[in-house]
Amino acid sequence: MQVIFLGTGTSQGIPIIGSDHPVCLSDNPKDKRLRVSVLITWNNYNILIDCGPDFRQQMLANNVKRLDAIFYTHEHNDHTAGLDDIRPFFFRQGDIPVYAHKRVLKALRKRFDYIFTTENKYPGAPGVKENIIENKTFSFHGLTVTPVEFMHNRLQVFGFRLEDFAYLTDIKSIEDEEVEKLNDLKVLVVSALRVESHHSHFNLDEALKFIERLNPERAYLTHISHMLGFHDEVEKELPPNVHLAYDNLKINV
Ligand SMILES: [Zn+2]
Ligand SMILES: [Zn+2]
Repeated sequence: MQVIFLGTGTSQGIPIIGSDHPVCLSDNPKDKRLRVSVLITWNNYNILIDCGPDFRQQMLANNVKRLDAIFYTHEHNDHTAGLDDIRPFFFRQGDIPVYAHKRVLKALRKRFDYIFTTENKYPGAPGVKENIIENKTFSFHGLTVTPVEFMHNRLQVFGFRLEDFAYLTDIKSIEDEEVEKLNDLKVLVVSALRVESHHSHFNLDEALKFIERLNPERAYLTHISHMLGFHDEVEKELPPNVHLAYDNLKINV
């Protein structure tokens, strides 16, 4: 399984438009972060987790030729706004399978009614095939997918475990029985917004404590705000098995 971090930034991305914050002005490419998303390649299937506003750029940057599914974590705009740009994939492949909680599908249907509609569809609008995710394991072409449920302040969010890899973003709290799904991971990706605490996201300390509790072989932090600091400086302070993810980082699991 190969994982590409397509974007590792929080909702506004880094740099923030018009910002004079030193991190936003950094020349280090690792300090430039598009909105969060990962592309997982397993057995030649390409699975995208979240489809945010930078989707088009992310597909171009990584020369992605095929999209077999989009798994959604939740409906926030930084995770969903790019759906219209699946058009090139739709033209080549037909309806693109999307997987999400039924509440998230409802939100997408409202926002992108012209994509989900079956009547008087505008020629050229993309199409999707809806799949409802419940909090139970399902199979994707033989790959076992375990949804992991947690809270983002008061909003339910799904993370996903695929074999020995797990991806959890926009997390603030999680029940013990969900944590049990995350034993014996090779790679854990978890969001860590910034140093100061936040009402709906783990801060750095909370993410590190969570990693310590799960004890994966390696962990990567994502959904990073400019307020976390410069990539190279934060990276130096992390435990040896924990890294800051950065855009276009590729890992094998
Ligand atoms: Zn987010
Ligand atoms: Zn969110």
